[in-house]
Amino acid sequence: MCGIFGIFNVEHAEKYAFYGIYALQHRGQESVGIAVSDYERLRVVKKPGLVLEALTAKDMEHLKGSIAIAHVRYSTSGDSTEINAQPLIRETSLGQVALVHNGNLVNYKTLRSSLQEKGFNFYHTSDSELFLALLDAGEYVPEHIKVHPEDAKIMPKVFYALHQVKGAYSLIYMFKDRLIVARDPYGFRPLLIGRSKNAILFASESCAFDILGAELWREVKPGEVIVVDKKGMRTYQLFRQEKKAMCIFEFVYFSKPEVFLFGDWAYRVRKAMGMALAKEDDVDADIVVPVPDSGVVPAIGYSQEKGIPLEFGIIRNHYIGRSFIEPTQELRNIKVLMKLNPNRAVLEGKRVIVIDDSLVRGTTSKKIVSMLRKAGAKEIHLRIASPPVIGPCYYGIDTPTKEELIASRLSIEDIRQFIGADSLRYLSLEGLKSCVKNPQDFCDACFSGVYPVEYEDKALRMR
Ligand code: SF4
Repeated sequence: MCGIFGIFNVEHAEKYAFYGIYALQHRGQESVGIAVSDYERLRVVKKPGLVLEALTAKDMEHLKGSIAIAHVRYSTSGDSTEINAQPLIRETSLGQVALVHNGNLVNYKTLRSSLQEKGFNFYHTSDSELFLALLDAGEYVPEHIKVHPEDAKIMPKVFYALHQVKGAYSLIYMFKDRLIVARDPYGFRPLLIGRSKNAILFASESCAFDILGAELWREVKPGEVIVVDKKGMRTYQLFRQEKKAMCIFEFVYFSKPEVFLFGDWAYRVRKAMGMALAKEDDVDADIVVPVPDSGVVPAIGYSQEKGIPLEFGIIRNHYIGRSFIEPTQELRNIKVLMKLNPNRAVLEGKRVIVIDDSLVRGTTSKKIVSMLRKAGAKEIHLRIASPPVIGPCYYGIDTPTKEELIASRLSIEDIRQFIGADSLRYLSLEGLKSCVKNPQDFCDACFSGVYPVEYEDKALRMR
């Protein structure tokens, strides 16, 4: 769960990168970084924290160029220390190369050990560094690819690197005079192309183009590698694989509702999830109440399908800054209540259907139910607009370990009792699949337990 951004051929690329990555802040809050090139050399700044708070005017002064990449991180592989913040930068035989990566590699350990045996040094503990190290490990051009003369030096090394790794990646390499972007053959993570005047942009979600006044051009295709330099844009379909595995959880929770990704609008899919949930449900109530923010769009769909009015019975405080890891349960409860406040005006004496996007550990839902009861709700029916999460993700989303996932341990009735709701219902897996176009092209492993790519070692997910 990270956000990546890249821009080629614009004056003050660093400023565009700053605003572009800010638009992707929801994809990672742990660290932010920007790297720029002025065609001579690469410069990078990385800081822990949120974009607006972490990067100072002085940091930005250090960055000047017309090519830039940026990253917001929520660690999934490697520890979460500053050393793993991206962009990563490495001196290679091709010169300085910087990298931003969203995803998770499933053969990280084997690849890293075999490169170490060959004398390669690693300076970070995240899987992303492999993409840089592998540039000096070999060359490969598949038979179906004809490399453009402009790319003769670089692309065989890039193709070799991408042929070695397995798993999920949407990435951008920055060389001093070009960007190279790639998406894994399954297309796990999104990556889109935008354009504005003479500039080409890349981003995890289309909202990064909106904020910069650029237009959405198209998605990078699964298995596609694109080079952008002063001569133009060249594209290679490196992998020609039938099977796709785009992450359905991006629609359930991660992406912002207004964005386009995986060939669809997140808002349309999320609203359809609420409608499908309503069709599967037979409970009657006075009001539908979303858990803000991610429950809002499915709640609109549910409310419209059922004809039960939508009310904002839970209000979110948008001014939560950093909070501490609290030592006691009582203090942890305060933390949830800081974020969400009950709206007694609509809750008192009402039978309430509460809609949330997903239920992972169950601890937040338990606090919400108890909060709504104290605020006077007569009945509380919790509805989840996705199926039970029964397995962890090995492809770049920071879901908890299997033991921490409540649905991997307890039956739905036991979960209901733990949470304290009057009833609990999830959207079925079939219902979820019915909301996306081409459901066979999606990964739903954390709901179904069917993993599209074998993972090497469970310890890979260090968090
Ligand atoms: S396992 Fe779940 S979160 Fe991970 S890629 Fe698949 S659908 Fe997405």
